Amino acid sequence: MFDITGKIKLFAFDLDGTLYLGEDLVPGAVELIDYLRKGYRIAFFTNNSSKTAGEVHEKLNRLGIKCEVNEVYASSSVSALYLKEAGLNDLYVIGSKSFRSELESKGMRIVESDLAKNLVVGLDFDFNYKKIADALSILLKGGKFIACNEDPYFPAGEGKYAPGCGAMVGAIAASANRGPDFIIGKPHTYILSIIAKAYKARQDEMVIVGDSYESDVMMALNYGSKAILVKPKSNLNNEDVLEIGSLDKTLTYIKEH
Ligand SMILES: [Mg+2]
Repeated sequence: MFDITGKIKLFAFDLDGTLYLGEDLVPGAVELIDYLRKGYRIAFFTNNSSKTAGEVHEKLNRLGIKCEVNEVYASSSVSALYLKEAGLNDLYVIGSKSFRSELESKGMRIVESDLAKNLVVGLDFDFNYKKIADALSILLKGGKFIACNEDPYFPAGEGKYAPGCGAMVGAIAASANRGPDFIIGKPHTYILSIIAKAYKARQDEMVIVGDSYESDVMMALNYGSKAILVKPKSNLNNEDVLEIGSLDKTLTYIKEH
């Protein structure tokens, strides 16, 4: 029995496909968040590594979901936290301008050649052979390999998909014949652990709301939290997961339980 009465303190929401699709809000998003804010704390997370937490925060507010920037956890900004915590610096960065500025704003040093000590890989729309070669050189010299996520693709609108950060990570992994040393994004749990720490919440006090079983729900279960899946999934039978078709139905369920 999926039970959210009693000890739940925090609802953490996936963004793409859960609260918005491109520039469109998913129906029921504002109503659900407004209702939950009366009794719970709210966080937002995304594997998107090409935007800063500030840019994601701006988008949420522009679309009508009122929130504070410190409620937003993007794999870009969380990567910066990890690199700092792990003492990894002098970075070769594969990723967007926003990702680079996020790292620099957190005090990280970026090195523009294979003289860098460590490698961090996010979604990069200008990925190329030279970048794979530099990455290989850094890894062969013993550098650490940190990936924002391994997402194979992401929704690009009009029913189309575009290659995700996993495509860059995969090219480098194939060349170096080894995978990343650490992966920030879901279904790995580092983002959730950062949220838990910031909100002083235990894993059993958190509910993750997302549209992907493999990514959002697996992250929640890997961490020991409950999950609400807002898209249907067949043969799912887990008392820690509520499978429900929409945000509207989620709101109705929460009001009734
Ligand atoms: Mg999603």
